Amino acid sequence: MYLRPEEISEIIKGKIKDFDAKLEKSEIGTVIQVGDGIALVYGLDNVMAGEVVVFSNGIKGTVLNLDEHHVGVVILGEFKDIKEGDSVKRTKEVLKAPCGNGLLGRIINPIGEPIDGKGELEVAEYYPIEKEAPSIIDRDFVRTPLETGIKAIDALVPIGRGQRELIVGDRQTGKTSLAIDAIIHQKGKDVICIYVPIGQKASTIAQIVKELEAKGSMDYTVVVAATASDNASLLYIAPYSGCAIAEYFMDQGKDVLIVYDDLTKHAVAYREISLLLKRPPGREAYPGDVFYLHARLLERAAKVSKELGGGSITALPIVETQAGDISSYIPTNVISITDGQIFLETDLFNEGIRPAINPGVSVSRVGGNAQFPALKQVAATLRIDLAQYRDLEAFSQFSSDLDSETRKKLIRGQKLVEILIQPNYDPIGVEEQVIAIFSANIGVYDEVPLIEMAQLEKNIYSHVKKTNGDILVKIRKKEKLSKEDFNNIKNTINQYLESIVEE
Ligand code: ATP
Ligand code: MG
Repeated sequence: MYLRPEEISEIIKGKIKDFDAKLEKSEIGTVIQVGDGIALVYGLDNVMAGEVVVFSNGIKGTVLNLDEHHVGVVILGEFKDIKEGDSVKRTKEVLKAPCGNGLLGRIINPIGEPIDGKGELEVAEYYPIEKEAPSIIDRDFVRTPLETGIKAIDALVPIGRGQRELIVGDRQTGKTSLAIDAIIHQKGKDVICIYVPIGQKASTIAQIVKELEAKGSMDYTVVVAATASDNASLLYIAPYSGCAIAEYFMDQGKDVLIVYDDLTKHAVAYREISLLLKRPPGREAYPGDVFYLHARLLERAAKVSKELGGGSITALPIVETQAGDISSYIPTNVISITDGQIFLETDLFNEGIRPAINPGVSVSRVGGNAQFPALKQVAATLRIDLAQYRDLEAFSQFSSDLDSETRKKLIRGQKLVEILIQPNYDPIGVEEQVIAIFSANIGVYDEVPLIEMAQLEKNIYSHVKKTNGDILVKIRKKEKLSKEDFNNIKNTINQYLESIVEE
């Protein structure tokens, strides 16, 4: 064979000319210090804040601090196997959460791994866990009610789809129960629910999931759990992961209810991370951006415009207080971010008034527009009546002989308080709520012993349902009730009461 040297050298020259191998020196770094879930990494010069990096043993981390000579990485998982000198690779991706209908009924951890032992997740899409909130133009008014099934909430502090309503109270005052009841009540209402326990015991979460399963509520619910034994980094990203999944469903035009349980533990986890990253501590040793931590999360709850599909995310963040102090740092922050708060009190809880909602300091700033008209009608004076009763009750403790007018008011107040008492895991529809509050308003229970009220309430409702079904349909259809309707209900109730006296 004849070889032509010119031809060969041409080919080689060409190859060398086209050879284009960039040395990617900056894409791999080295761990220079590691401990408590934080790694300082040298050599990742081009890495972005929030980017995911992978350690040599496969564990992921996310970059939080960009310093001059190194970057601070939060390790998302077990950090004991990571040593000084390990290599760290960039991924050029931000953290993403798995989304899709396949997540319904599942329990995942904040980095999107299933932890319920039910096998692989069926993922339709991945959504970034940090995202800008919908702009003002993208939003629509909150005008559809989000029923919680809890009389004291739907009547006094109604919540609308797309609203953010804080549940705040000391430990063991029924905060979680309220949120779970709201989830249970969404059955058949075409609302997707996302429950994000943050820093709770695994056994508590298991208990809650069991309850949701028993009520058939896991079918439309996703649980994104960071337990008390997970490290702070997972607790920190949990609510953002949950929110990303909620956004997926909202983009599909769905209504979503998301519960963050609770943001106090979330802030504490963030404080831990910040201190380890040597960020300067501020009030209560929280870093300066702890307000932004929750504001950027809760701003993502929204009712979006028709053009964007008209979906919504309603957020129920939970915050725990110490000795009822709502003026401490985290509660005041979250109160100022949300559209209202439901304040639970230990004293009321211990008196047996459960849910232990204090109507005096609980408000809903936007839900009024979304409330069922009939419920609005019967609950119009409820707040004032309850407040007056509280004052009167405190006052009457000092005097033994009361005039009959005052005594009547006291009795009525007592019955109004009682009618709002409701066991947990037992939400009821608006129709039933309207009848219950209306009958207390017209004095049906004035002569009835407290202990018999709950049963009578149920009986009256089933009687009204049998004889005045059309009025209940009107309530559900969001129609206002006329004077005649109210008279009809009143007559029905009276007939029923007479019939049981005769027996
Ligand atoms: P923690 O601070 O531990 O998170 P929490 O404020 O979330 O507590 P829950 O766990 O919801 O409170 O409730 C505390 C206890 O009160 C539970 O045992 C629950 O069953 C009970 N409870 C809650 N709501 C009611 C209610 N409406 N009626 C009767 N019992 C209730
Ligand atoms: Mg709780």
